[in-house]
Amino acid sequence: MVILESKLGLTKVGKVLEIRKPFPLIGHISFGIIDRGYNNLQVRITTLCSLSCIFCSVSAGPKSNREREFILRDPEWLYEWIKYACNFKSSFHLIFDGMGDPITHKDLPEFVKAVREMKNVKSITVETRLFPANIKTLEKLKDAGIDRLNVSIDTLNEEKGKLLSGNNFYSVKKVKELIKYAHEELGIAIHLAPVWIPTVNDEDIEEIIQFAIKIGLGEKFPPLGIQKYVSHKYGRKVPGIIALSWKEFEKWMRKLEDRYKIKLLLDPKDYGLEKSERIPNGYKKGEIVKLSLVEKGLLKNEYLAIPPKKDRVFTLISRRESLSIGDIVYAKIIHDKDGILIAIPV
Ligand code: SF4
Repeated sequence: MVILESKLGLTKVGKVLEIRKPFPLIGHISFGIIDRGYNNLQVRITTLCSLSCIFCSVSAGPKSNREREFILRDPEWLYEWIKYACNFKSSFHLIFDGMGDPITHKDLPEFVKAVREMKNVKSITVETRLFPANIKTLEKLKDAGIDRLNVSIDTLNEEKGKLLSGNNFYSVKKVKELIKYAHEELGIAIHLAPVWIPTVNDEDIEEIIQFAIKIGLGEKFPPLGIQKYVSHKYGRKVPGIIALSWKEFEKWMRKLEDRYKIKLLLDPKDYGLEKSERIPNGYKKGEIVKLSLVEKGLLKNEYLAIPPKKDRVFTLISRRESLSIGDIVYAKIIHDKDGILIAIPV
């Protein structure tokens, strides 16, 4: 295994890039902090995942053909950035989500602990498929201070679970047991978030609703947030399945709401979210910036790049063969929404 370290806080282990202080934690879509202008922050500590779901919108997992994977290794450094966010957001929820599954990060409890004591942090949620996890993982997360698990489980059928997750070791039975243990023994709020793939898991979605009702989810939080299958440009597509329109999706959700007397069409308020001040971006779409290329990016033709102030990380997209790590390029910012910075060479 080739291990390369840089002064920027990057360590390359194979195709995985470990990120530590002083590398900036805002600007990239797949690691660090994302602020979408609500009273919550998304925190992404890994792009790695143990599953290869056949519908994965970000094409993660062992079957991924990404150029690089990213993993944060420095909980104290995340704390510093969350502290910085507190200058602009008086109180907010934190959700550990990502273009991978945060549960696969062995130090997830350390990251939770690092930010738990901050008074501006109202709640901490982890979004996961709970694989691989066990009772000990849940206990550590509870001790570290999580409030909620958003668990994606797309079927209650053991064989279909293996097929949909693209992993023969995935076990629906085990995930169900973990959900019950977290809810009943640890008092962690559970929100089930299955992906509905029309004609593939229609009945399964109804069984998941029945399961949520049976085990009494929904005391503190809506029990279910069913996700619509969407065919993404860089994601995996389920062969032969055409994604429904939002109108068709809502129609079916309304039918299920009537059938089970449960709220399924949720809006940000149901998640306790409201608009809030944003962390200032510092860089604007259309602006020309000088960028140093520090590593390859997540996908082919992408690079990690940083400006002279080293206060943000950019994704530089270039199809030019001649670019190499260490190059300095002038680039035009083509995307700045939600603090995610993308630029192309000029
Ligand atoms: S959908 Fe989630 S759990 Fe499945 S492969 Fe993608 S990131 Fe992993």
